[in-house]
Amino acid sequence: MRRPLLAGNWKMHTTVMDACHLAAEIGKCSAGLDDRDVLLAPPYTVLSEVAHVLQGSAVLIASQNVCWEEKGAFTGEISPTMVKSAGGSAAIIGHSERRHIFHEDNEMINRRVHGALSFGLIPILCIGETLEEREDGKTLTVLEEQVRKGLAAVSREDMERSVVAYEPVWAIGTGKTASKEQAQEAHAFVRNLLTEMYEKNVAESARILYGGSVKPDNVDELMAQADIDGALVGGAALDAESFCRIINFT
Ligand code: PEP
Repeated sequence: MRRPLLAGNWKMHTTVMDACHLAAEIGKCSAGLDDRDVLLAPPYTVLSEVAHVLQGSAVLIASQNVCWEEKGAFTGEISPTMVKSAGGSAAIIGHSERRHIFHEDNEMINRRVHGALSFGLIPILCIGETLEEREDGKTLTVLEEQVRKGLAAVSREDMERSVVAYEPVWAIGTGKTASKEQAQEAHAFVRNLLTEMYEKNVAESARILYGGSVKPDNVDELMAQADIDGALVGGAALDAESFCRIINFT
């Protein structure tokens, strides 16, 4: 049995006050949910405040990206030890906004995955095709390349603590969700690929999240799919009521 993981990515939203308020609301509505994990990825500026507000709760904290180096001349980056010292235990890596707006490629993303792993953070590796790639029939080829390159040289032991998030680019922030069939097809494909790259029991226990306009009214049917183990939520994670409904999926 894979433990569901519901993750909220706050992107470049929230002041210190907004973040503390939102975290407190989510902390309240996640209390007692002991059959699933809840994770928040706030902006770097509020990582420690959010961790402080959620102290004593089971909510996990992640950064929205992470560098492969521990420290040094890397202006604008955040290191794995900084994330850990602020209370984080995971890092989102390879989000489509990093790939498409900031031109991060699979090689850089792989370095970030290794950076996270070597300092004990759980990497959440995001993958996903653009609309053009889907319409050209290239979805599975793109996913395979992103998984193989993103996880290059990741050991079996490290894969056991890693998470993959399938986020079709055309569904992120657009209000268009992949149908449950489209999402399930992609997730099953990724799980088969993990079986080829590692072995069946590693693939069977790997958590694969779906992201792309997850909302209170579609979370239940997405979570009912055999290979969907959780959600990575953007817009709806900024509204306490919506996110609370999502983490309480049935
Ligand atoms: C995301 O940012 O990863 C995301 C899926 O955003 P949204 O839920 O707004 O589509």
